[in-house]
Amino acid sequence: MTTPEKKWAEIITIGDELISGKVVDTNSAYISRRLPAIGLEVRYHTSVGDNREDISRALRQALNRSQVAVICGGLGPTVDDITREVASEVFRQRLVKNEEVLDSIKDRFSRRGLEMTPNNERQAFFPLRAELIPNSQGTAWGFFLRERGSLLIFLPGVPRELEVMMEEKVIPLLSREIKRKVHIKSKVLNTFGLTESKLDELLKGTTGKWKNVSMGFLPKFPTNQIRIVARYSSEEKALRVLSQVEKELERRVGDYIYGRDEETMEEVVGRMLKENQATIAVAESCTGGLIGHRLTDVPGSSEYFIGGVICYSNQAKIDLLDVLPDTLREYGAVSRQAAVEMAVGVRRLHKTTVGLAVTGIAGPSGGSPEKPVGTVFIALADEERTKVDGYCFGGNREQVKALSSQIALDWVRMYLKKS
Ligand code: ATP
Ligand code: MG
Repeated sequence: MTTPEKKWAEIITIGDELISGKVVDTNSAYISRRLPAIGLEVRYHTSVGDNREDISRALRQALNRSQVAVICGGLGPTVDDITREVASEVFRQRLVKNEEVLDSIKDRFSRRGLEMTPNNERQAFFPLRAELIPNSQGTAWGFFLRERGSLLIFLPGVPRELEVMMEEKVIPLLSREIKRKVHIKSKVLNTFGLTESKLDELLKGTTGKWKNVSMGFLPKFPTNQIRIVARYSSEEKALRVLSQVEKELERRVGDYIYGRDEETMEEVVGRMLKENQATIAVAESCTGGLIGHRLTDVPGSSEYFIGGVICYSNQAKIDLLDVLPDTLREYGAVSRQAAVEMAVGVRRLHKTTVGLAVTGIAGPSGGSPEKPVGTVFIALADEERTKVDGYCFGGNREQVKALSSQIALDWVRMYLKKS
């Protein structure tokens, strides 16, 4: 009987603290994000406690079904670290002392003026045919075993050590050894302003068009991400199809797409301000400086961000931005009129191309029947015109602030797009 072809990768994490929820398993997430770049798709995550039988079962299962398994945790010196012993049993390879590793552990201790306790010696023992993976960050070296067409890679649990070993040793090893059958290329489109169900509707029929392309939604409030993944036997093909799909999605979703991959709204707005040689100033009431903060998160923002005024009280709006007391008396601080005067005022103060203003009620208190919590007015002023609009958001204080800042920035994006 021929064994079915093993083409997947899997990850096994070991440690009671992972099972009990005391420590969040970040290693699996990191490895899963990393392997597709070299054509390996992770199919399973397994977490087991520091338990002989469970570790043993997980290793056997991996051997039966996966081309590559990355196993992390339990390589330390303490009694609960039993991964090497279990691997030795499962693969019937006795543990053999490696003098080079022992010396390096001793050396690590003596350089720090510490005494090496005898239990540390256990870390110098490896299954007979193991090939070692040095650990430049700690004492727990990793190793890998080749068994029945599978590659089993054992790494320590400490995330920083694991990551360095992955980058320095494991990824290069896998890129050399795995005969790549598939090239996986992905692209994320960041959208704002449409719900997931609306996006789903717009994209109807696109998924079936390319047989090796999958699409998924990931809400990252207030952004909705569309993730496209293309799997093809050649890199060129994968990239070509990916860009075709991207074009099709652009056609359907249009301006709701504001950026790609890691790109943030403030980066996009910053880039467009620069391209247009435009400058901006912000007047913020309920967002309390959030828009200024976001704009200044982008390196080089001094080229276009001139300044901002946080005018939380009525008096501050009057004193700093020349908002008319009559306006506030007649319409209130949360009003179209106040928002417009704030935008005009801050633009005049800082002599910028555009002035952007937000005023609203973030809650949980402060609402009224006419202006409930979540009422927000946004205004944008340039030399000639002002645009103003009112919203009524759901959500808590933090969400109202996040959404207000996002819409305000999106207004600037759309304004610059048209100019
Ligand atoms: P060491 O000798 O450095 O202890 P080890 O292989 O024995 O190596 P563990 O004892 O299993 O590693 O874990 C070391 C640390 O790393 C612990 O703080 C543990 O909570 C953390 N850790 C283990 N596995 C994970 C994981 N999958 N994700 C995030 N943290 C982890
Ligand atoms: Mg442990």
